[in-house]
Formats: sequence, C-alpha cells, structure tokens
Amino acid sequence: MTTIAPVDRIADRVSAVRERVERACRASGRDPSTVTLIAASKTRTPEEVAEAARAGISDFGENYVQEGAAKAAAAARLVPAMALTWHLIGHLQRNKVNAALEVFDVFHGIDSLRTLEALARRAVRPVPVFIEVNLAGEPTKHGLAPLDLPAFIERARALDTIDLRGLMAIPPQGPPAETRRWFALLRELAHANGLRHLSMGMTDDFESAIAEGATHIRVGRAIFGERMP
Ligand SMILES: *Cc1c(COP(=O)(O)O)cnc(C)c1O
Repeated sequence: MTTIAPVDRIADRVSAVRERVERACRASGRDPSTVTLIAASKTRTPEEVAEAARAGISDFGENYVQEGAAKAAAAARLVPAMALTWHLIGHLQRNKVNAALEVFDVFHGIDSLRTLEALARRAVRPVPVFIEVNLAGEPTKHGLAPLDLPAFIERARALDTIDLRGLMAIPPQGPPAETRRWFALLRELAHANGLRHLSMGMTDDFESAIAEGATHIRVGRAIFGERMP
C-alpha cells in the first residue's frame, strides 16, 4: 500500500496545526507564544517551503547541511521579503561545521564535544544550541546518555560563542503514554541542569510534548503531507 499525498493545501494544514498547538496549550494552561513551531522540511521542495512561509511559518528544520543550504537559498529567492530562521535538526558532523554556520541559525543535534568546540571556534556570535539526548540508549540514534549531560553542559557553558538553550530528543516509538513519559524525562533533565528550552514533539505526538513543556516542536507530515517513501 502506498499512501496517497493528501490534496489539502499547505496553508490549510498549517492552520490545522496551529489549532492543535493552541488546543494543547489551553489544556495545560500555557501561552501558545511559548511554543515555536518548526516546519521539518526534509525532502520537501523550495516551493513547498515558500508556500509554508506564505502561510506564516517562519522557522524551518532541515536534517542535512547540504540539502538545507540549497533549499534555504532557493526559498530565499522565492520569498525574498521573508526572514526565515533555519534550524539544523539532524546530527551535525564536525567537518560540516563551517558550511552549517553559513546557513543555520539554531542547532538541535549536538552531542559531541569536539563538534561543539569546532562550532564555538568558528562562530562569530553566540550560536543557539540544543544538546541531543538519547533518552532510551537506543543504538541506532544519536544523542548523549543522560548521565553524561552534566559534564557536557559544564563544558558547553564555558564556550563564549555557544548560547546553550536546552535539550532535544526523539523518544523511542511506543504507545502515547510511554512517549509522554520520555518527554517528561527530558523536561526533568533540562530543569535539573538549569536549561529552559525543550525541542521535542513531532506530527504524531506534539500535543503530549507540549503538555510536558516543549518550547520547540518539529513538525513535518502534518504540515507538508506524507513523505514519499
Ligand atoms: C522528520 C523529522 C521531524 C518531523 O517528523 P514528522 O513525523 O514528519 O512530523 C522532526 N524531527 C526530526 C529530527 C526529524 O528528522
């Protein structure tokens, strides 16, 4: 079975996501302005990005440096009057740091001290950074073990050009109640380490991420439709 791409316009999907965000915020007594909606645009075209931008999305997330660089440049030509913020939500390799700094404003996938130090050396102004955490110790995922966080955070705070914002995670797949417990764990880890921002929650689970304090949600399919396999 293949999934047929829905015909809804991106603008309609963006409104529907905004409504879901508002409802989730209301349910937990939060102000929707405290949740940044990042449109996860991997595999999407610059035209789709421009359409989302015209629908009011200002933040986009890409997984790969080269794909993001090409897309950001093309999107800027399509919607030149719009200031878009680009988030690297995938893993950053140390040899891509220079190229990444030319494109991305915020880094969510940092889990290596060597990469962080390379970023710090090359940055000309403080770069917002989220540390990726591998909550369940899954071997196929990037991210720092929770136990390694305090030492890593201490090192990160010593770097002048790193603006350490918070933690990011993609919890293991599982039933909603379990996912929500992983989100709660990320919140506890952030707060225990004096960090305020939480990058967590995607299409299938961003409501429970918001309930557990997400400040940045990364949403792909609910905005752009199903990805082609
Ligand atoms: C693809 C991706 C998302 C968005 O996933 P959807 O299920 O399409 O909402 C969020 N975060 C990361 C790191 C991703 O790679």
